[in-house]
Amino acid sequence: MTKQTLSFQAEVAQLLHLVTHSLYSNKEIFLRELISNASDACDKLRFEAINDGGLYENDTDLKVKVTFDKDARTLTITDNGIGMSTQEAIDHLGTIAKSGTKDFVSKLSGDQKADSQLIGQFGVGFYSGFIVADKITVESRRAGMKADEGVRWISGGAGDFEVENITRPERGTSVILHLRDDAMDYASAWKVKGIINKYSDHISLPIMMEKEEWKDGELINPSDEQGGRQPGGMVKTGEWETVNKANAIWARAKKDITADEYTEFYKQISHDFEPPLAYTHNRVEGSTEYTQLLYIPGKAPMDLYNREKSAGVKLYVKRVFIMDDAEALLPTYLRFVKGVVDSSDLPLNVSRELLQESRDVKAIREGCTKRVLGMLEDLAKNDKLPEATTSAEGVTDVVSEEDKAEAAANAGKFTKFYNEFGAVLKEGLGEDYANKDRIAKLLRFASSTTDTVSVSFADYKARMKDGQEAIYYITADNAAAAKNSPQLEVFKKKGIEVLLMTDRVDEWALNYLQDFDGTPLQSVAKGAVDLGKLQDETEKKAAEEAAEAFKPLLAKLKEALKDKAEDVRVTTRLVDSPACLVVQDHGMSTQLARMLKQAGQAAPDVKPVLEVNAEHPLVKKLDGSVHFNDLAHILFDQALLAEGGLPADPAAYVKRVNALLV
Ligand code: ADP
Repeated sequence: MTKQTLSFQAEVAQLLHLVTHSLYSNKEIFLRELISNASDACDKLRFEAINDGGLYENDTDLKVKVTFDKDARTLTITDNGIGMSTQEAIDHLGTIAKSGTKDFVSKLSGDQKADSQLIGQFGVGFYSGFIVADKITVESRRAGMKADEGVRWISGGAGDFEVENITRPERGTSVILHLRDDAMDYASAWKVKGIINKYSDHISLPIMMEKEEWKDGELINPSDEQGGRQPGGMVKTGEWETVNKANAIWARAKKDITADEYTEFYKQISHDFEPPLAYTHNRVEGSTEYTQLLYIPGKAPMDLYNREKSAGVKLYVKRVFIMDDAEALLPTYLRFVKGVVDSSDLPLNVSRELLQESRDVKAIREGCTKRVLGMLEDLAKNDKLPEATTSAEGVTDVVSEEDKAEAAANAGKFTKFYNEFGAVLKEGLGEDYANKDRIAKLLRFASSTTDTVSVSFADYKARMKDGQEAIYYITADNAAAAKNSPQLEVFKKKGIEVLLMTDRVDEWALNYLQDFDGTPLQSVAKGAVDLGKLQDETEKKAAEEAAEAFKPLLAKLKEALKDKAEDVRVTTRLVDSPACLVVQDHGMSTQLARMLKQAGQAAPDVKPVLEVNAEHPLVKKLDGSVHFNDLAHILFDQALLAEGGLPADPAAYVKRVNALLV
């Protein structure tokens, strides 16, 4: 093959532009990204070699080498991993295959500042090399291919790249960065080692650098490695040393791992720039043995709501990387969790299909789920700063400065988590029957008396009125619609709190939760309102009498609206509004039906019940009105509008209202 010049996919060009223009303040991450790619390449080789040992080509000593050449102004990262064929180099280094990254790029606004914040949430991978390099040369040969089937890829990081065929006896990949003027300090062992220690200590592969020593230099100030030497400089010795710790962090003892190391490992596997909210690290022994290191991120990825999205847990078997995104290891509603599971029991050649059926995996999944829920419970418990308690003798709790600092560091984390992932957690009510109660305890809602999403079912119960027998809630498209819904009127009047549910998933999820801790959940928009003991005898009696007196009018309304309403009845739930719509006890709400239809899914035609307020002047006016028919339809359509719906025939509605206005 002769040299050919190819164009980057449009998204790559866009990403490259952003990378080189916005990551100045975070230059050094390029090394983490490239070393992580090298390590992935070795993982892939090890995995493919399980079935084809020949791929090792008699070299099983997998490693990454980092070298630099001050004169040539290059920094090179070399691995003896799986390598790339020419086609793979074209595909992988010229296009973006990962849907997450693609979505990300499509969200870029062109506004530099906003975009650079966005990129903080994303792994920029290979392209980050262009932060420090104005040209990158990649030389590679895929394991198992012939020496003359190597490839050289060159690009200046603008619109295109070149590829040509080369001979490369050694398997694997070299990424040669031609350093920019302002990045020449990366051609220094001292600097590079520092970055490797910071980001890549946990890479389970040795990262090697050539040892250097001072030539003819007098050591004047031993505390400063650079200091005091003559500029004769450092010379390479030809000896190689491993510069990272080179063992898998999760395999080390907890007590030997610092919080910073945990955080750096998280950043490495998640490509997140921010630290995680929490992590848990355990070695589980018993009939199924495995190690888990799981993290809860602080920020939701762009594609969180895609249930098809890959999971975030990597599976290892006895330290050998098996697969990314092993969805069998955690239920879908915990898809935001990142981390590693290393099993000692699974076979190395385990497939995704096998994982679904394995009893060991089932045990791991249960164990991981429990741990994650446990972490969330801890976050919830520590979300608020504790108040100092004063005992009966008047002695105020003495809290140590350390405890105070710890409490301050943990405060607000659960709120942060819930804002990002709360809606996803709710899916668990339907998905994870066994843990339904634990999940329900973690849920938070806004309510008719609390604007922030902070009310738990337990908080609600503690505030229930005497005689109140149910937890009341309303589902709506948004907080304003929920708060101002006519269905809430009587609850407001009586000072009864109602939970406002405005996440799309709420109604579906709530189907799976009939009660909380023995108290039934009751939608205020379903079934006839029954305030039970909250209503006094006179109120009950008045309601019954109104219903009786209204019977003839109801019959007429029913007849007029027979195509629209399932039934028409008098209600006590309204105070200011003339009418509202409710659905039968176990029916699907009109909002949910509307949502399903908008999403192009099949939904039953829900015929709601029209409830009228016998005390309202408009309703009183109905009787004997010459406009009875128009008023009846307006009443119905307005009730629909009030809950965020649209009349079936909006033009007819407008015509009717106008006729009356005139
Ligand atoms: P990511 O690693 O997140 O998939 P990158 O842009 O970093 O994205 O890399 C794109 C692809 O290029 C990788 O998925 C891999 O297939 C290939 N690649 C990158 N570096 C190497 C390497 N050192 N050895 C083999 N393949 C590599």
